[in-house]
Amino acid sequence: MSTYENLSLFIDGKMTSGDSGASSDVLNPSTNAVLAKLPHAKKPELDRALAAADKGFKVWKQVNVFERAKVLRKAADLMRARVDDIAHVLTLEQGKPLMESKVEILAGADITDWFADEGRRAYGRIIPARADGVRNMVIMEPVGPVAGFSPWNFPVTQAVRKIAAALAAGCSIIVKCPEETPGSPIGIIRCFHDAGVPDGVINLVYGVPAEISEYLIPSPIIRKVSFTGSVPVGKHLASLAAQHMKRTTMELGGHAPVLVFNDVDVEAVSKMMVATKTRNAGQVCVSPTRFFLQDKIYDKFVATFTDGMKSTKVGDGLDPATRMGPLANPRRITAMQTLIQDAQEKGGKVQTGGKRIGNQGNYFEPTVLTDVPDSARIMNEEPFGPVAIMCRFKETDEALERANKLPYGLASYAFTKDGKTATKVADALDSGMVTINHFGLALPEVPFGGTKDSGYGHEGGLEGLNAYMVAKFVSQMG
Ligand code: NAD
Repeated sequence: MSTYENLSLFIDGKMTSGDSGASSDVLNPSTNAVLAKLPHAKKPELDRALAAADKGFKVWKQVNVFERAKVLRKAADLMRARVDDIAHVLTLEQGKPLMESKVEILAGADITDWFADEGRRAYGRIIPARADGVRNMVIMEPVGPVAGFSPWNFPVTQAVRKIAAALAAGCSIIVKCPEETPGSPIGIIRCFHDAGVPDGVINLVYGVPAEISEYLIPSPIIRKVSFTGSVPVGKHLASLAAQHMKRTTMELGGHAPVLVFNDVDVEAVSKMMVATKTRNAGQVCVSPTRFFLQDKIYDKFVATFTDGMKSTKVGDGLDPATRMGPLANPRRITAMQTLIQDAQEKGGKVQTGGKRIGNQGNYFEPTVLTDVPDSARIMNEEPFGPVAIMCRFKETDEALERANKLPYGLASYAFTKDGKTATKVADALDSGMVTINHFGLALPEVPFGGTKDSGYGHEGGLEGLNAYMVAKFVSQMG
């Protein structure tokens, strides 16, 4: 079993503590005890990372795509071989059940494999020319060194989506992974390094997030910015990137509606939804949050779903019986309490949960709310926790209007056996991703991204690779 230690930055192929002496504590969310100290990067370390990424890009873009793919595939194999150790670290620092940590690391391996292959298919095209003897070509080139900012809810996959796509395209990257959960990203970076990624191609920094983004984004070395996190921070970083004309991918928050129609099998659907809602304690940008239930199944669905939430075993992620771990940090407890109290003051009813569990660690009860008016904060702000809000509807158009009315547009879901209804809602739901009768999104091969305030650009799919490439037009005569 791995211990939790040796946290470091990774610059130009070497683990380093840097010279600043600045650091922060990493806490175990199941106890809030200190796990380790994390060294911070300041300007000198960031300058070294920038120089390394500049050098790394010049080296890596010359490596042909078949060789790049071999290195990435080896990194994926190392992730699989090291899954138990990295998963243990991930659960210690983030709180999710060990099984979810393992699934996340194996997903990281799958993402890396997929981008390894997709990099070999970064085809350009030939455009017929108007003049004899002219050949018009579009060549896909790597955009350049990337600054990536990844969050603490999926410390491995959120980082891998940026790293694997950037590397497959031929870019280098400086990734700032989350200060709350730094150990598992370090484990992943070691896999890439040990697989043969040249020095300087991947650099990992930690520190004060605003200091790092405000230093890296304006640097002329950085050509692309990719951020996953909250809407307000995303808007701030997007405007900073715009001032310096940097390409950007923004994966921001959501407040996913799920429409459940009268014709579903209530028991089966609610069981699936409890599992999805409690995954990662609801700290998932595509977690279903606003449940719009059609009139005839409303009572039965609320009762069945509430029973499922009540019987979800909450505990330490290292305990094999645990189905939902603690929230990742104390800020989430405060957020849950504030939003639930506001909903209650406005007439909302708590069917189950609603409270912190104990006074050690960040445990929170799986919560079901009913009778919450649209004016309540929780109907408008992303809860990012284990809370489901049950709303009643009669007609499809009414449900669609309420589902679409927020500024978010990340994921939406619908459950119905009727094909016409399914097509109608899939067309009408205003979000970057819609699934019908299941929750199957966020796979390596499909685009993942939002509309409206949920951001722009995609991670995953061929769109996820194109995000790290630029099309160069070359026209040749003779
Ligand atoms: P936050 O807004 O302070 O931070 C969100 C993320 O952005 C963190 O990873 C943080 O390190 C990073 N960040 C913050 N300021 C930054 C800056 N100036 N430059 C670069 N990075 C910066 O909120 P939080 O309390 O850490 O998280 C809560 C909220 O964040 C949630 O309500 C949710 O909306 C959002 N979130 C979204 C995702 C996602 O997958 N889209 C993941 C984690 C958090």
